[in-house]
Amino acid sequence: MWNNEWRKKTWQEIAGPWDMIVIGGGITGAGILREATRLGLHALLVEQRDFAWGTSSRSSKLVHGGLRYLKEGKLILTRDSVHEREQLLHEGPGLIDPLGFLMTVYKNDSPGRWAYEVGLTVYDLLALRWDHAYYSAQDFKLLAPYISQNELKGGFRFGDAQTDDARLTLRVLREAVADGATAINYVKGERLIATEQGVKGVLLTDQLLGDQAEAYAQVVINAAGAWTDTLREQVGGSAQIRPLRGSHLIFPNWRLPVAQAISFLHPFDQRPVFIFPWEKVTLVGTTDVDHTDSLEREPCISPNEVAYLMAAVEYQFPSLSIGLEDVISTYAGVRPVISSGRANPSEESRDHVIWEDQGLYSVTGGKLTTFRLIALDVLKALQSRFPDLPEPDHDMPVLNPVDQALPGCGEMRETCRRRLLGRYGVDAIRLVKAAHAGEMESIPGTDYLWAELRWAAQSEAVCHLEDLLLRRTRLGLILPHGGESILPVVKQICLKEMSWSTDQWQKELEAYHQLITSCYSLPTPASIPAWKTLLAEAEKRRKSAIQETHARKTQRSMLLAAGLVASVIIGTILWKNYRQVE
Ligand SMILES: Cc1cc2nc3c(=O)[nH]c(=O)nc-3n(C[C@H](O)[C@H](O)[C@H](O)COP(=O)(O)OP(=O)(O)OC[C@H]3O[C@@H](n4cnc5c(N)ncnc54)[C@H](O)[C@@H]3O)c2cc1C
Repeated sequence: MWNNEWRKKTWQEIAGPWDMIVIGGGITGAGILREATRLGLHALLVEQRDFAWGTSSRSSKLVHGGLRYLKEGKLILTRDSVHEREQLLHEGPGLIDPLGFLMTVYKNDSPGRWAYEVGLTVYDLLALRWDHAYYSAQDFKLLAPYISQNELKGGFRFGDAQTDDARLTLRVLREAVADGATAINYVKGERLIATEQGVKGVLLTDQLLGDQAEAYAQVVINAAGAWTDTLREQVGGSAQIRPLRGSHLIFPNWRLPVAQAISFLHPFDQRPVFIFPWEKVTLVGTTDVDHTDSLEREPCISPNEVAYLMAAVEYQFPSLSIGLEDVISTYAGVRPVISSGRANPSEESRDHVIWEDQGLYSVTGGKLTTFRLIALDVLKALQSRFPDLPEPDHDMPVLNPVDQALPGCGEMRETCRRRLLGRYGVDAIRLVKAAHAGEMESIPGTDYLWAELRWAAQSEAVCHLEDLLLRRTRLGLILPHGGESILPVVKQICLKEMSWSTDQWQKELEAYHQLITSCYSLPTPASIPAWKTLLAEAEKRRKSAIQETHARKTQRSMLLAAGLVASVIIGTILWKNYRQVE
């Protein structure tokens, strides 16, 4: 599947006709392709760049119910999300794994301890498991030793989960393809082909060769994420997406050591932010700002976002003296959020929506966690188009069950075996067989095996160096300078497995270096606002707000007391007068 010959053959057969064409190779498109194929539809998915190139490789990687939804009173959505989390944890160990969350409670925090207690109790009840506890400041310190102790009252620990978003997308796609679907990257849905009966197909462009071809289908699905409006506008749909950028900073875990995710309210705006372990590094995120750059360009973190996230680190871990020199890399993604025109981006709803315009079905919004539910909703919306389609079975596994034994890997460490099975599903066995001598060793400083690079280059539709280092593996994010130290080995693998010439390697290398510098590194330090000053100002504002609240409370208490005294005096006088009259 997805080797060198596959691309040519797929392009030759791309015209169809298909039952369904899905435009967009993120988790939403992948989920729809998976569920449609499961029901017997003959489906094609096209992705304009690489699979998961969009938001689905740039999320916070949490598979979670979302306490935020609970706060907004969306009980059903939270319940559905925690159910999906539980199912994914059960079916995809090694790809979706438990992650403990620590939530700090500081003096004068709002919401405070009891509001969190109620929220977490409901969260656990919805998941039908008890997985949270409150710890005193002293005990909490043992769970998060470097955390700021200043005014710490204690904190909660609760359970959620995390994944590798790009690998999750790829596993879902590959399982759809193994089941009969077709998926191809670097093919853009250029223009919709519409007749009087509505949208009937798409004009496609092969982004690598520039060739064009028409493809026809009974139904075209627009799962283009933040790019959804571009396609909808071709058939008269109105623009609905408010692109919101979220960015992250990545630090070495020895510099910012956390064993579990730390969740706290950012001192600037009281938004929840996370500092969490992932792939032997520590991630800090996320921001939530309007993305006004062109969607044609790869999103990058802005200087203001760097200052915002550095301030979060300084606020929570002041004793570690973390500086810009500690940052390994950065990344930014764009949320496809449905606009309601609210001033504060964080108040926009994260729900998914399905629109139909002249037979084009567009689906956007939602979360990585709920990708299967989104796919099932889309299939439900298509019932009139496919009246004979069987009802989707909600009890089907999301991911194919995999044989737990890896033949020939008797001596392999359990964590490594679990990781390979989770990420590669049934292909894990072939990955191990394809490994050259010494390639079952880990790449220093990471959990990756050298064999994963060879397998991806050989069989996972890698077209550019960035596909291999930023999405099939995440080595370009978690190793310094985009993984510069391993590039000599990567070169040998690419030359052998993808038949690249030395010239082609050189071109790929230059493009990769440019991308890492412009979109996965820090902006120039001089452009980054002084976050410590901003933090000090925020702290001053917070203190004066607390003082004001105290002053207001004292004033109110004094007025109340004065009122009480006055009532007693007046009451006494009236009582005396009454007695005299009597
Ligand atoms: C910073 C951030 C953090 C997040 N954290 C979490 C989290 O922790 N947990 C969670 O559950 N969710 C999270 N989310 C939300 C989640 O990442 C998104 O909801 C999800 O990835 C959206 O997937 P998608 O497939 O709809 O969009 P995308 O992944 O963007 O996929 C759309 C794809 O369509 C392609 N495309 C566009 N136009 C065309 C065309 N004309 N032809 C062909 N292809 C096209 C694009 O290239 C793109 O790859 C986060 C989002 C952000 C931004």
